[in-house]
Amino acid sequence: MPEGDSLVRAAHRLRPVLAGRTLAHADLRVPRLATARLAGWTVAAVEPQGKWLLLRLTPPPGSAAAPHTLASHLKMEGRWLVTGRQARWAAPGWQVRAVLETGEHRLLGAQLGRLELVPTAHEDRLLGHLGPDLLDPAWDGGAHGARLLAEGVRRLTARPERPVGLALLDQSVVAGIGNIYRCESLLLAGLDPHRPVGSVPDAPGLLTLARDLLRANVPPAAPYVSWPRTTTGVRADPSGPYGLRVDVVDRGFPPGLPGTALDDAGTPLDATRPGPDAGTGGAAAPEARPARRAQYWVYGHRNSPCGRCGGPVTFEEFGSPQDDERQLWWCRTCQR
Ligand SMILES: [Zn+2]
Repeated sequence: MPEGDSLVRAAHRLRPVLAGRTLAHADLRVPRLATARLAGWTVAAVEPQGKWLLLRLTPPPGSAAAPHTLASHLKMEGRWLVTGRQARWAAPGWQVRAVLETGEHRLLGAQLGRLELVPTAHEDRLLGHLGPDLLDPAWDGGAHGARLLAEGVRRLTARPERPVGLALLDQSVVAGIGNIYRCESLLLAGLDPHRPVGSVPDAPGLLTLARDLLRANVPPAAPYVSWPRTTTGVRADPSGPYGLRVDVVDRGFPPGLPGTALDDAGTPLDATRPGPDAGTGGAAAPEARPARRAQYWVYGHRNSPCGRCGGPVTFEEFGSPQDDERQLWWCRTCQR
């Protein structure tokens, strides 16, 4: 399931091979889009927005067509793969929803949850319902940042009876929080996920904490560095939200070489490469590598304790059965 930082990472990865390039070939394998002809169109921009990745396309010279946006939502398993033009297929054909080719590269959109093509001037038809994007640089201080925060709080508390653990996942409240940041923000804020959002003592602080956690996991666009996701880089600070300050922590990796294989969560695909989250077990990793920081406080802690208090972690399904993100981990000791 994607988190907002996954989309920023994907954009960082795709921008160097797509931005400014003209598509030599495009094949959209979604029935509604099967007749779209995008060869000759140029990728003007590659931008993340919430959990969407937007490729803004300009038509070939002389075309009367309006600029369009190819928007993909990764949902559970979706990913964009970059290969050379002559490379063998990097994903099984039945998984591929989009093939884009430039002069140098072939990009495969595999297992995309949604793929849409809309006039760029009408992106709001697709994205207009989204709340403020927590990774929008405009959150940085100033009056505009304050307005974004106020709007996020207004949306968060608009239905005060709703459990905070569900409201945080609602992309129409704020965009970018997936299950990891839902679980981890609530743990750090000490909030029971079932608590009505209207009773949360510091709603602006909760959104600020979630934003800071997301932001700390966005690697620099360049140069390319390994940047595994973690939420445990925090320290006590009475002036911060919930008495905490999120730090951008040293990931413990030297700068990666271009082409180092990481997925969009920053996890090295090469399992032999050392790292705090080289496996998928989250908290299990530190037992094998005690010198390294745990990746998460509670998220995914199936058989390991809360990273904050050492007590047992509660797992439950919390959300609609149709929701990809209904798995909830939380600590009954830390979260009241
Ligand atoms: Zn705990």
